[in-house]
Amino acid sequence: MYKNRGLVKDEIAFKSFNEVPRELFLPKNYVSSAYSDHPLPLMDTGQTISAPHMTIMILEYLELKPGLRVLEVGAGSGYQAALIAAAIKNGENTGHIYSIEIVPKLVDFARRNIRNAGYEDLITVLEGDGTLGLPEEAPFDRIILTAAGPTLPPPLLEQLKIEGTLVMPLGRPGLFQTMTRFRKISEDEVLREVLTSVAFVPLRGKYGS
Ligand code: SAH
Repeated sequence: MYKNRGLVKDEIAFKSFNEVPRELFLPKNYVSSAYSDHPLPLMDTGQTISAPHMTIMILEYLELKPGLRVLEVGAGSGYQAALIAAAIKNGENTGHIYSIEIVPKLVDFARRNIRNAGYEDLITVLEGDGTLGLPEEAPFDRIILTAAGPTLPPPLLEQLKIEGTLVMPLGRPGLFQTMTRFRKISEDEVLREVLTSVAFVPLRGKYGS
């Protein structure tokens, strides 16, 4: 349906969306709304799992291919990480995704969902402040933030490969933000593209809102 409406242009994104069952990543009382195109609450945490169209747009903005090493800030339900995992796997040439989550309850939730969906070999969920990145596993080909922050956290830019891209909702909480893609051209040159307007939960942590 999303493809027919012209919303999905990238074949890898389309394949991932069809492969990963969103219902496995929702709190039980929301399973019947799994394919309604709006965000859903993650238990009583005040956090949300993004609407399906937004998760697909993120896949497209990341320009994924098999073998990439990806860092996600904000595991939430683990659904976006699973979609990314589906896009970076291909037999021998399979990448890995590290996903950092600051709310302990959601770390457990994401891990359980990822295991149920069968992606545990491709995704490592870690508890902590994702704005500090994960220096021990850096550098990354792609970095995605699923919460909105005021600026690009400096440690994340440092941990991005040359030619790598970082996608994040940029802006203050409560207002619309702009989904922005940063492309690291060299150690001291970064290109910035504004992609679309979005509304995400606030990024917490040292370089958060
Ligand atoms: N990608 C998620 C959506 C998550 S909503 C999914 O597919 O379900 C944003 C998440 O970012 C929330 O779970 C929130 O707790 C988390 N978050 C916010 N600031 C963070 C930070 N500094 N480090 C790690 N996680 C953070």
